[in-house]
Amino acid sequence: MPATKKAPKKTPKKAAASGKKAAPAKGTPKAKSTPIKKGLEPKALAKTRALGGDLAPERIAAILKGLDEAYPNAECALHHRSPWELLVATILSAQCTDVRVNMVTPELFRRFPTPEAMRKASLPELEELIKTTGFYRNKAKSIKGAAEKIVTDFGGKVPQTLDELITVPGAARKTANVVLGVSFGKAEGVVVDTHVFRISHRLDLAKGDTPQKVEQELMEILPKDHWISFSHQIIHHGRQVCIARSPKCDKCNLEQLCHSEDKTWWS
Ligand code: SF4
Repeated sequence: MPATKKAPKKTPKKAAASGKKAAPAKGTPKAKSTPIKKGLEPKALAKTRALGGDLAPERIAAILKGLDEAYPNAECALHHRSPWELLVATILSAQCTDVRVNMVTPELFRRFPTPEAMRKASLPELEELIKTTGFYRNKAKSIKGAAEKIVTDFGGKVPQTLDELITVPGAARKTANVVLGVSFGKAEGVVVDTHVFRISHRLDLAKGDTPQKVEQELMEILPKDHWISFSHQIIHHGRQVCIARSPKCDKCNLEQLCHSEDKTWWS
């Protein structure tokens, strides 16, 4: 049996010539890697640097411009004919799609068109009508309670301030912001739903770990006249392009401004 010939150890020079990486010799100080953010491709990095950082006004303006171009007419997707209907639809939309809510509300509002009518509805009646939106027992209590509060304390009309709206059962800050922005054109805050929360992080516009913190951060960096439209546009972006799993980065017009770690495509 012929003796097996040992392969000669590669010196760094030989290894380089063969195209393979040589192991560093013992005691050799490790070369420092380039301080590049994980997942950040050079072109996006260069663009961000050129604009002066993640929160530079120029970068924010470029993101807003991109959203205006992609979603010029973004509106609330919940069907409604009055502030009252929007309030109820928004309460029902918690943990539920707008499409599902839109399937339920026509019959709900046909049976109980006003706060005065809905406060007199029985809970089982309401539960039956909104069952498919999930969490229907709590939601039925909320919309009946909201009707009661609006009739008793606000003369049957949906109030137009954040402080008053958040006293209505089922209407936390997000719901109040939706109603104020869509029905009354009042920007008292920024709506932060699951899409706005996710995409604000992906675009490095916010770092907060709660919707409240993200809202405060967005209110500091966004011009006030974009507070309402930004949320509508981001919600559309989140549904169509920047979806939670496997965002469609190859179809995203913000791609060069984005260096999210879970990007799926780089230009
Ligand atoms: S590039 Fe991708 S991750 Fe970034 S905003 Fe666009 S779709 Fe979302």
